Amino acid sequence: MSRSYNFSAGPAVLPEEVLEQAREEMLDWQGSGMSVMEMSHRGKDFMSIAAQAETDLRELMSIPANYKVLFAQGGASSQFAMVPLNLLQGRKGADYINTGSWSKKAIAEAQRFCEVNIAGATPKGEFSVPAAETLQLSADAAYLHYTPNETIQGIEFPYVPDSGDVPLAADFSSTILSRPIDVSRYGVIYAGAQKNIGPAGLTVVIIREDLIAEPMAGTPAMFNYGTLTGADSMYNTPPTYAWYIAGLVFQWLKRRGGLDAVAVVNERKVRALYTAIDQSDFYNNPVDPTCRSWMNVPFTLADAELDATFLAEAKDAGLVTLKGHRSVGGMRASIYNAMPEEGVQALIDFMAEFEKKYG
Ligand SMILES: *Cc1c(COP(=O)(O)O)cnc(C)c1O
Repeated sequence: MSRSYNFSAGPAVLPEEVLEQAREEMLDWQGSGMSVMEMSHRGKDFMSIAAQAETDLRELMSIPANYKVLFAQGGASSQFAMVPLNLLQGRKGADYINTGSWSKKAIAEAQRFCEVNIAGATPKGEFSVPAAETLQLSADAAYLHYTPNETIQGIEFPYVPDSGDVPLAADFSSTILSRPIDVSRYGVIYAGAQKNIGPAGLTVVIIREDLIAEPMAGTPAMFNYGTLTGADSMYNTPPTYAWYIAGLVFQWLKRRGGLDAVAVVNERKVRALYTAIDQSDFYNNPVDPTCRSWMNVPFTLADAELDATFLAEAKDAGLVTLKGHRSVGGMRASIYNAMPEEGVQALIDFMAEFEKKYG
Protein backbone atom coordinates (compact mmCIF):
# COMPACT_ATOMS: atom_id res chain seq x y z
CA MET A 1 0.00 0.00 0.00
CA SER A 2 1.26 3.44 -0.78
CA ARG A 3 -0.70 6.52 0.19
CA SER A 4 -0.02 9.81 -1.54
CA TYR A 5 -0.13 13.20 0.08
CA ASN A 6 -3.50 14.39 -1.20
CA PHE A 7 -3.88 18.17 -1.50
CA SER A 8 -7.44 18.03 -2.86
CA ALA A 9 -9.79 20.87 -1.89
CA GLY A 10 -12.60 18.38 -1.30
CA PRO A 11 -13.45 15.61 -0.87
CA ALA A 12 -10.16 15.78 0.94
CA VAL A 13 -7.59 13.84 2.91
CA LEU A 14 -8.78 12.06 6.06
CA PRO A 15 -6.54 11.19 9.03
CA GLU A 16 -4.85 7.84 8.45
CA GLU A 17 -5.66 6.74 12.01
CA VAL A 18 -9.33 7.31 11.31
CA LEU A 19 -9.25 5.26 8.12
CA GLU A 20 -7.43 2.47 9.92
CA GLN A 21 -9.98 2.41 12.72
CA ALA A 22 -12.79 2.36 10.17
CA ARG A 23 -11.09 -0.59 8.46
CA GLU A 24 -10.77 -2.42 11.78
CA GLU A 25 -14.46 -1.88 12.48
CA MET A 26 -15.69 -2.33 8.93
CA LEU A 27 -17.25 -5.78 9.19
CA ASP A 28 -18.10 -5.87 12.87
CA TRP A 29 -18.52 -2.63 14.80
CA GLN A 30 -17.55 -3.28 18.44
CA GLY A 31 -19.10 -6.74 18.64
CA SER A 32 -22.40 -5.67 17.11
CA GLY A 33 -21.94 -8.26 14.37
CA MET A 34 -22.46 -5.73 11.61
CA SER A 35 -20.93 -2.77 9.84
CA VAL A 36 -22.04 0.72 10.83
CA MET A 37 -23.26 0.99 7.24
CA GLU A 38 -25.76 -1.78 7.89
CA MET A 39 -27.20 -0.49 11.16
CA SER A 40 -30.62 0.97 11.74
CA HIS A 41 -30.22 4.66 12.45
CA ARG A 42 -32.71 4.21 15.29
CA GLY A 43 -30.98 1.24 16.87
CA LYS A 44 -29.07 1.68 20.12
CA ASP A 45 -25.66 1.13 18.51
CA PHE A 46 -26.00 3.87 15.94
CA MET A 47 -27.76 6.17 18.42
CA SER A 48 -24.72 5.88 20.68
CA ILE A 49 -22.36 6.67 17.76
CA ALA A 50 -24.50 9.68 16.82
CA ALA A 51 -24.73 11.03 20.36
CA GLN A 52 -21.00 10.63 20.98
CA ALA A 53 -20.18 12.52 17.77
CA GLU A 54 -22.37 15.42 18.82
CA THR A 55 -20.92 15.46 22.34
CA ASP A 56 -17.38 15.50 20.96
CA LEU A 57 -18.12 18.27 18.45
CA ARG A 58 -19.75 20.35 21.18
CA GLU A 59 -16.70 19.88 23.37
CA LEU A 60 -14.20 20.63 20.58
CA MET A 61 -15.94 23.84 19.51
CA SER A 62 -17.26 24.81 22.97
CA ILE A 63 -20.75 25.05 21.49
CA PRO A 64 -23.05 26.79 23.98
CA ALA A 65 -26.10 24.90 25.27
CA ASN A 66 -28.53 27.22 23.45
CA TYR A 67 -27.29 25.99 20.06
CA LYS A 68 -28.58 22.93 18.19
CA VAL A 69 -26.26 20.77 16.12
CA LEU A 70 -27.58 19.16 12.95
CA PHE A 71 -26.03 16.26 11.07
CA ALA A 72 -27.82 16.94 7.82
CA GLN A 73 -27.57 16.26 4.11
CA GLY A 74 -27.63 18.39 0.99
CA GLY A 75 -24.21 20.00 1.36
CA ALA A 76 -23.36 23.61 2.04
CA SER A 77 -25.22 24.32 -1.20
CA SER A 78 -28.55 23.43 0.43
CA GLN A 79 -27.72 25.79 3.28
CA PHE A 80 -27.48 28.60 0.71
CA ALA A 81 -31.28 28.17 0.45
CA MET A 82 -32.06 27.05 4.00
CA VAL A 83 -30.55 30.15 5.55
CA PRO A 84 -32.89 32.59 3.75
CA LEU A 85 -35.90 30.25 3.90
CA ASN A 86 -35.61 29.98 7.68
CA LEU A 87 -34.07 33.26 8.74
CA LEU A 88 -35.93 35.83 6.65
CA GLN A 89 -38.94 35.66 8.98
CA GLY A 90 -40.98 38.05 6.88
CA ARG A 91 -38.18 40.52 6.24
CA LYS A 92 -37.50 41.60 2.68
CA GLY A 93 -33.75 41.50 2.56
CA ALA A 94 -30.46 40.19 3.90
CA ASP A 95 -26.87 41.44 3.88
CA TYR A 96 -24.14 39.43 2.16
CA ILE A 97 -20.39 39.93 1.94
CA ASN A 98 -19.02 38.87 -1.43
CA THR A 99 -15.43 37.67 -1.27
CA GLY A 100 -15.29 35.02 -3.99
CA SER A 101 -16.79 32.02 -5.72
CA TRP A 102 -18.68 30.52 -2.78
CA SER A 103 -20.06 33.87 -1.62
CA LYS A 104 -21.38 34.38 -5.14
CA LYS A 105 -23.19 31.05 -5.10
CA ALA A 106 -24.74 31.81 -1.73
CA ILE A 107 -25.85 35.23 -3.00
CA ALA A 108 -27.34 33.82 -6.21
CA GLU A 109 -29.41 31.36 -4.20
CA ALA A 110 -30.57 33.98 -1.68
CA GLN A 111 -31.70 36.23 -4.54
CA ARG A 112 -34.38 33.65 -5.31
CA PHE A 113 -35.97 34.46 -1.96
CA CYS A 114 -35.10 38.02 -1.03
CA GLU A 115 -33.34 41.25 -1.84
CA VAL A 116 -29.62 40.90 -1.29
CA ASN A 117 -27.69 43.91 -0.10
CA ILE A 118 -23.97 43.56 -0.77
CA ALA A 119 -22.52 44.82 2.50
CA GLY A 120 -18.96 44.58 1.25
CA ALA A 121 -17.04 42.94 -1.56
CA THR A 122 -13.60 42.02 -2.75
CA PRO A 123 -12.69 44.34 -5.66
CA LYS A 124 -12.58 42.53 -9.00
CA GLY A 125 -9.20 40.95 -9.69
CA GLU A 126 -8.06 41.31 -6.07
CA PHE A 127 -7.54 38.63 -3.44
CA SER A 128 -8.55 40.29 -0.18
CA VAL A 129 -11.48 40.81 2.15
CA PRO A 130 -13.16 44.18 2.74
CA ALA A 131 -11.97 45.93 5.90
CA ALA A 132 -14.33 45.57 8.87
CA GLU A 133 -14.98 49.31 9.10
CA THR A 134 -16.06 49.53 5.43
CA LEU A 135 -18.99 47.10 5.72
CA GLN A 136 -22.31 48.74 4.87
CA LEU A 137 -24.97 46.92 6.84
CA SER A 138 -28.61 47.68 6.18
CA ALA A 139 -30.82 48.53 9.12
CA ASP A 140 -33.55 45.99 8.43
CA ALA A 141 -31.55 42.98 7.22
CA ALA A 142 -32.79 39.60 8.40
CA TYR A 143 -29.19 38.41 8.79
CA LEU A 144 -25.63 38.97 7.58
CA HIS A 145 -24.02 36.15 5.60
CA TYR A 146 -20.33 35.68 4.83
CA THR A 147 -17.82 33.04 3.83
CA PRO A 148 -15.00 32.95 6.40
CA ASN A 149 -12.75 31.02 4.02
CA GLU A 150 -13.02 31.16 0.24
CA THR A 151 -11.82 27.70 -0.77
CA ILE A 152 -11.12 28.64 -4.39
CA GLN A 153 -9.47 32.06 -3.99
CA GLY A 154 -7.59 31.02 -0.83
CA ILE A 155 -8.62 34.05 1.20
CA GLU A 156 -9.75 33.97 4.80
CA PHE A 157 -11.28 36.61 7.05
CA PRO A 158 -8.86 37.77 9.76
CA TYR A 159 -11.86 39.07 11.72
CA VAL A 160 -15.46 38.16 12.56
CA PRO A 161 -17.84 40.73 11.04
CA ASP A 162 -19.78 42.64 13.68
CA SER A 163 -23.45 42.37 12.77
CA GLY A 164 -24.78 43.80 16.04
CA ASP A 165 -28.11 42.24 16.92
CA VAL A 166 -28.59 40.88 13.42
CA PRO A 167 -27.80 37.14 13.27
CA LEU A 168 -24.54 36.26 11.57
CA ALA A 169 -24.66 33.30 9.16
CA ALA A 170 -21.40 31.75 8.01
CA ASP A 171 -20.35 29.14 5.48
CA PHE A 172 -17.51 27.48 7.38
CA SER A 173 -17.17 24.56 4.93
CA SER A 174 -13.43 24.82 4.39
CA THR A 175 -12.18 26.18 7.71
CA ILE A 176 -14.38 24.69 10.45
CA LEU A 177 -12.25 22.98 13.13
CA SER A 178 -9.01 24.55 11.86
CA ARG A 179 -8.79 26.58 15.10
CA PRO A 180 -11.07 27.65 17.96
CA ILE A 181 -13.87 30.08 17.14
CA ASP A 182 -16.39 31.85 19.36
CA VAL A 183 -19.63 30.13 18.36
CA SER A 184 -21.67 32.63 20.37
CA ARG A 185 -20.84 35.32 17.77
CA TYR A 186 -22.90 33.40 15.20
CA GLY A 187 -26.56 32.70 14.50
CA VAL A 188 -25.88 29.88 12.05
CA ILE A 189 -22.67 28.07 11.17
CA TYR A 190 -22.72 25.46 8.43
CA ALA A 191 -20.19 23.28 6.68
CA GLY A 192 -20.13 20.52 4.11
CA ALA A 193 -18.18 17.72 5.79
CA GLN A 194 -15.90 16.79 2.91
CA LYS A 195 -13.23 19.42 3.62
CA ASN A 196 -12.31 19.31 7.28
CA ILE A 197 -14.82 17.00 8.97
CA GLY A 198 -15.28 13.71 7.16
CA PRO A 199 -16.74 12.14 4.03
CA ALA A 200 -19.01 13.90 1.54
CA GLY A 201 -22.73 13.52 2.11
CA LEU A 202 -22.83 15.01 5.60
CA THR A 203 -23.47 18.67 6.38
CA VAL A 204 -22.97 20.03 9.88
CA VAL A 205 -25.20 22.94 10.93
CA ILE A 206 -24.89 24.75 14.25
CA ILE A 207 -27.83 27.04 14.91
CA ARG A 208 -28.89 29.24 17.79
CA GLU A 209 -32.16 27.88 19.17
CA ASP A 210 -34.12 31.14 19.11
CA LEU A 211 -33.59 31.38 15.34
CA ILE A 212 -35.51 28.18 14.71
CA ALA A 213 -39.00 29.30 13.72
CA GLU A 214 -41.66 28.69 11.09
CA PRO A 215 -39.90 29.11 7.71
CA MET A 216 -41.17 30.85 4.59
CA ALA A 217 -44.47 29.46 3.29
CA GLY A 218 -43.94 26.53 0.96
CA THR A 219 -40.59 25.50 2.44
CA PRO A 220 -40.12 21.72 2.06
CA ALA A 221 -39.96 19.80 5.34
CA MET A 222 -36.36 18.79 4.64
CA PHE A 223 -35.40 22.47 4.35
CA ASN A 224 -37.00 23.43 7.65
CA TYR A 225 -34.50 23.74 10.51
CA GLY A 226 -37.33 23.07 12.95
CA THR A 227 -38.20 19.74 11.33
CA LEU A 228 -34.60 18.59 11.42
CA THR A 229 -33.73 19.78 14.92
CA GLY A 230 -37.08 18.54 16.26
CA ALA A 231 -36.19 15.05 15.07
CA ASP A 232 -32.56 15.18 16.26
CA SER A 233 -31.32 15.00 12.64
CA MET A 234 -33.37 11.85 12.09
CA TYR A 235 -36.47 13.19 10.37
CA ASN A 236 -35.37 10.97 7.51
CA THR A 237 -32.51 8.48 7.27
CA PRO A 238 -29.36 10.45 8.03
CA PRO A 239 -25.99 9.80 6.30
CA THR A 240 -25.08 7.26 8.97
CA TYR A 241 -21.66 6.16 7.78
CA ALA A 242 -20.45 9.71 7.15
CA TRP A 243 -21.72 10.67 10.62
CA TYR A 244 -19.75 7.79 12.15
CA ILE A 245 -16.54 8.75 10.32
CA ALA A 246 -17.02 12.39 11.37
CA GLY A 247 -17.26 11.10 14.95
CA LEU A 248 -13.94 9.28 14.55
CA VAL A 249 -12.39 12.51 13.23
CA PHE A 250 -13.71 14.41 16.28
CA GLN A 251 -12.10 11.82 18.57
CA TRP A 252 -8.85 12.09 16.62
CA LEU A 253 -8.92 15.88 17.10
CA LYS A 254 -9.51 15.43 20.82
CA ARG A 255 -6.56 13.00 21.05
CA ARG A 256 -4.42 15.68 19.40
CA GLY A 257 -5.30 18.09 22.18
CA GLY A 258 -8.35 19.85 20.76
CA LEU A 259 -8.54 22.90 18.53
CA ASP A 260 -5.96 25.00 20.39
CA ALA A 261 -3.33 22.36 19.71
CA VAL A 262 -4.57 21.78 16.16
CA ALA A 263 -4.31 25.51 15.47
CA VAL A 264 -0.66 25.56 16.52
CA VAL A 265 0.15 22.82 14.02
CA ASN A 266 -1.92 24.45 11.28
CA GLU A 267 -0.17 27.75 11.81
CA ARG A 268 3.23 26.07 11.48
CA LYS A 269 2.09 24.41 8.26
CA VAL A 270 0.85 27.62 6.64
CA ARG A 271 3.81 29.66 7.78
CA ALA A 272 6.24 27.15 6.25
CA LEU A 273 4.40 26.98 2.94
CA TYR A 274 3.78 30.73 2.48
CA THR A 275 7.38 31.47 3.48
CA ALA A 276 8.63 29.06 0.83
CA ILE A 277 6.42 30.72 -1.76
CA ASP A 278 7.33 34.28 -0.73
CA GLN A 279 11.06 33.61 -0.64
CA SER A 280 11.06 32.40 -4.22
CA ASP A 281 10.74 34.41 -7.43
CA PHE A 282 9.50 31.30 -9.15
CA TYR A 283 6.28 30.82 -7.13
CA ASN A 284 3.65 33.40 -6.33
CA ASN A 285 0.59 33.57 -4.07
CA PRO A 286 -1.77 36.39 -5.09
CA VAL A 287 -3.51 36.85 -1.73
CA ASP A 288 -3.14 39.90 0.49
CA PRO A 289 -0.88 38.63 3.32
CA THR A 290 -3.36 39.83 5.96
CA CYS A 291 -6.04 37.41 4.77
CA ARG A 292 -4.29 34.34 3.48
CA SER A 293 -6.15 31.11 4.05
CA TRP A 294 -4.88 28.56 6.52
CA MET A 295 -6.50 25.77 4.57
CA ASN A 296 -6.27 26.48 0.83
CA VAL A 297 -3.07 27.86 -0.65
CA PRO A 298 -3.25 28.79 -4.32
CA PHE A 299 0.02 29.54 -6.07
CA THR A 300 1.24 30.09 -9.60
CA LEU A 301 4.50 29.26 -11.34
CA ALA A 302 6.46 32.07 -13.02
CA ASP A 303 5.95 30.23 -16.30
CA ALA A 304 2.47 28.70 -16.71
CA GLU A 305 3.88 26.54 -19.51
CA LEU A 306 5.50 24.49 -16.74
CA ASP A 307 2.20 23.75 -14.94
CA ALA A 308 1.67 20.35 -16.55
CA THR A 309 5.27 19.30 -15.88
CA PHE A 310 4.97 20.44 -12.27
CA LEU A 311 1.81 18.40 -11.76
CA ALA A 312 3.26 15.31 -13.43
CA GLU A 313 6.52 15.38 -11.46
CA ALA A 314 4.68 16.14 -8.22
CA LYS A 315 2.50 13.10 -8.81
CA ASP A 316 5.59 10.95 -9.33
CA ALA A 317 6.83 12.28 -5.98
CA GLY A 318 3.58 11.20 -4.29
CA LEU A 319 2.04 14.70 -4.12
CA VAL A 320 -1.36 14.67 -5.80
CA THR A 321 -4.39 16.83 -6.65
CA LEU A 322 -2.42 20.07 -6.73
CA LYS A 323 -4.07 21.50 -9.84
CA GLY A 324 -5.60 24.90 -9.16
CA HIS A 325 -9.28 25.63 -9.65
CA ARG A 326 -10.04 26.39 -13.31
CA SER A 327 -11.19 29.90 -12.37
CA VAL A 328 -7.87 30.82 -10.73
CA GLY A 329 -5.34 28.65 -12.58
CA GLY A 330 -1.95 27.51 -11.36
CA MET A 331 -1.81 25.25 -8.32
CA ARG A 332 -3.73 24.93 -5.09
CA ALA A 333 -2.50 23.06 -2.05
CA SER A 334 -5.31 22.38 0.41
CA ILE A 335 -3.75 21.60 3.76
CA TYR A 336 -6.66 20.72 6.01
CA ASN A 337 -6.24 19.33 9.53
CA ALA A 338 -5.63 15.82 8.21
CA MET A 339 -2.65 16.87 6.05
CA PRO A 340 0.37 16.00 8.18
CA GLU A 341 3.25 18.45 8.60
CA GLU A 342 5.46 15.96 6.75
CA GLY A 343 3.15 16.27 3.76
CA VAL A 344 3.56 20.04 3.69
CA GLN A 345 7.33 19.68 4.09
CA ALA A 346 7.41 17.14 1.24
CA LEU A 347 5.62 19.69 -0.96
CA ILE A 348 8.02 22.48 0.02
CA ASP A 349 11.03 20.26 -0.71
CA PHE A 350 9.58 19.23 -4.05
CA MET A 351 8.90 22.86 -4.98
CA ALA A 352 12.51 23.81 -4.21
CA GLU A 353 13.84 20.92 -6.30
CA PHE A 354 11.53 21.81 -9.17
CA GLU A 355 12.62 25.45 -9.09
CA LYS A 356 16.29 24.40 -9.14
CA LYS A 357 15.65 22.24 -12.17
CA TYR A 358 13.46 24.61 -14.22
CA GLY A 359 13.78 28.03 -12.61
C1 LIG B 1 -17.02 23.10 -0.97
C2 LIG B 1 -17.70 24.32 -0.54
C3 LIG B 1 -19.07 24.51 -0.74
C4 LIG B 1 -19.94 23.51 -1.45
O1 LIG B 1 -20.23 22.49 -0.59
P1 LIG B 1 -21.24 21.31 -1.01
O2 LIG B 1 -21.23 20.48 0.23
O3 LIG B 1 -20.64 20.64 -2.21
O4 LIG B 1 -22.55 21.91 -1.31
C5 LIG B 1 -19.66 25.68 -0.27
N1 LIG B 1 -18.93 26.61 0.36
C6 LIG B 1 -17.59 26.47 0.56
C7 LIG B 1 -16.84 27.54 1.27
C8 LIG B 1 -16.95 25.32 0.13
O5 LIG B 1 -15.64 25.17 0.34
